[in-house]
Amino acid sequence: MVSLDSRLDGIVGGKTAKALGKAFEMRTVRDLLWHIPRRLEDKGELTDLSRLRVGEHATVLARVESVNAATYLARGRRATRTEVIITDGAHRLVMTFFRQPWQAKHLRPGTVGFFSGKVDTFRGRIQFQHPTYELLGPDTDSADPLELTDEAIKRWWPIYPATAQVSSKTIGKAVERVLDVLGEVPDILPDETRDALGLVTLDQALRAVHQPADREDWQTARHRLAFDEAFLLQVALAMRRWLAMSMTAVARPHRSDGLLVRFDDRLPFELTPGQRQVGDLLRAELAAEHPMHRLLQGEVGSGKTVVALRAMLQVVDAGGQAVLLAPTEVLAGQHHRSVVALMGDLAGAGTLEAAPDATAVALLTGSTPAGERRAILNGAASGAIGLLIGTHALLEESVAFRDLGLLVVDEQHRFGVEQRAAIVERAGYTPPHVLVMTATPIPRTVAMTVFGDLDVSSLHDLPAGRVGTQTTVVPAAERPDWLARAWGRVREEVEKGRQAYVVCPRIGGEPDAETADPPDDDFVPRRAPLAVADVAAQLLSGPLSGLRLYMLHGRLGSEEKDDVMRRFAAGDIDVLVCTTVIEVGVDVPNASVIVVLDAERFGVSQLHQLRGRVGRGSEPGLCLLVTDAPEASPSRARLSGVAATTDGFALADLDLRNRREGDVLGAAQSGRRSSLRLLSVLDDAELIATARETATALVEGDPLLDRHPLLAAEVERLVEQEQAGYMEKS
Ligand code: ADP
Ligand code: MG
Repeated sequence: MVSLDSRLDGIVGGKTAKALGKAFEMRTVRDLLWHIPRRLEDKGELTDLSRLRVGEHATVLARVESVNAATYLARGRRATRTEVIITDGAHRLVMTFFRQPWQAKHLRPGTVGFFSGKVDTFRGRIQFQHPTYELLGPDTDSADPLELTDEAIKRWWPIYPATAQVSSKTIGKAVERVLDVLGEVPDILPDETRDALGLVTLDQALRAVHQPADREDWQTARHRLAFDEAFLLQVALAMRRWLAMSMTAVARPHRSDGLLVRFDDRLPFELTPGQRQVGDLLRAELAAEHPMHRLLQGEVGSGKTVVALRAMLQVVDAGGQAVLLAPTEVLAGQHHRSVVALMGDLAGAGTLEAAPDATAVALLTGSTPAGERRAILNGAASGAIGLLIGTHALLEESVAFRDLGLLVVDEQHRFGVEQRAAIVERAGYTPPHVLVMTATPIPRTVAMTVFGDLDVSSLHDLPAGRVGTQTTVVPAAERPDWLARAWGRVREEVEKGRQAYVVCPRIGGEPDAETADPPDDDFVPRRAPLAVADVAAQLLSGPLSGLRLYMLHGRLGSEEKDDVMRRFAAGDIDVLVCTTVIEVGVDVPNASVIVVLDAERFGVSQLHQLRGRVGRGSEPGLCLLVTDAPEASPSRARLSGVAATTDGFALADLDLRNRREGDVLGAAQSGRRSSLRLLSVLDDAELIATARETATALVEGDPLLDRHPLLAAEVERLVEQEQAGYMEKS
């Protein structure tokens, strides 16, 4: 009997199966049936030929009445003009094809199909310009176009995502064959759940989504399949949460006489109410006997690092070790510097100046010299190092800990779940507590899906005394004087003792991997994107001559990078011309202006991140978004949107609307292939919330899905798919 796992080639024929495999990687019935029609065409709603309006683009169902070929002379050569008349039984329309004599072969009188084109009149008759068509049925000689073959009589036509090689019609035919022989599809949803939610069965849904009785039938089917999509993911996440909750972790209670208390005493500023509140929460969760899994989202500059550091110190006080994982070397280096600076002699274990029971803080990146690296690995393994900060280098197998109590992941959107898992495994039998941080606010639905195994806290308030950042779009092509003024502002800031960033989309020279790609390519300037090296040279010989200007980008050696960052932080550099290496987390409070060139090439959240590099001190920041994009373009609208608000959540939404959803999940999942097909993270928030509730309740009652074997198999399939997607990319 044919089931979802049956291979297609035995059912639809070798040739079609091969084409489907090639175009869509389809192998089984399941693959084909989950290729869901994008829309439904209603033959009943097609335009009556007498109602066509000149100038509109129309699709009509009609029947070919007559075909005439005529020859004519074009530049002294004979050419063919094929004139096809189609009819709705009462009215006629002309379609003309030049030099396409073969059209006569397809368009025999009596053939029925969908015809599309721009409506036009010629010598008093209506006609289609550049017509395209899709024929539905074999010829009929019937005089009445409504007396059609069975196939053409079908009113509702599913339109599939198709390719030039495999048309929607071919897919539809294959689906038809499959549905004819497919046995009843067993349901993965428990009956009670399905009934409670008023959903149709999976079998009904699969048949109706391809062969609906009407539009409502189709919507109901889609709704059921969309629910499944959300539900499976939520079950997988609920199981992950359950597993985490059922694990025991070592409790790391707060100590009233440890490093943390002394650290708090010497903190040069007051914690914001938000920092204190989240701090209290972490303090309690770290003291509990199962692992914390918390996502901390906070506006750019809201002071997440201090929150994390305080949690790490609590763990060290309780005898454990803590790790801070950062996405770039620049950021890891900066975290290390600022942690060491904030801790002072509390961080000096092993040195003469160390405070009593100080701990050791170390930095490990891909470019740590071998000798130092060995010493750090020893220190981590022996427990001598209490706080280890670093990049992906920390994920390597050689990194082992004596007693890892807390993993902090900064700028989580750069890491995937699996990378978190990789380090958690390092901890041995008892999993560490986990805190992940992001300044890219995550829309609620994405939080429920991609980060669904984490509890979420937010930092909304910025430290007192921040005046904020003013953002202006500088249309360089229309207003060259504004650009000149922008450079004037940079010079003024430097003269006041402040510092500036100038960000370019490209490093320049070859090879050039660090190019920012436009988020949607609605506007692409004719010239190549501006490059760091060229811009730096031009600025030095022009508007910014005499300033201490340096370059920073990914192609510099890491020591050089670190050196430039250190000197910029120390105020020895006025202007940093750079790529997005400074995008996340770089913290130099004295920097007051950032100029982003070719700003249309950056995504919304990237721009928000970049802007967050200034306005971090007591002086207001200035962010100038320079672009050649014309005023009416979507690019300009996007930039104006960024300029208009500093509310990260509003921008996250804007960002989401500017991207294809696959990209959103793709980026957020760090390269994992999105398993969402029918769901829209924008529009299906409610459905996802319902799925989450339902899944959580089900997993609570049956954590290992022992009583729901079909569902268990489906969840396993999903997890495997996700892992395969992740492996492909890593
Ligand atoms: P982000 O949340 O963007 O990672 P950081 O943790 O880098 O922000 O903090 C930004 C800056 O604000 C740092 O220089 C930090 O020392 C400072 N800071 C953090 N908390 C406070 C506070 N409560 N008051 C004043 N400054 C603070
Ligand atoms: Mg940060």
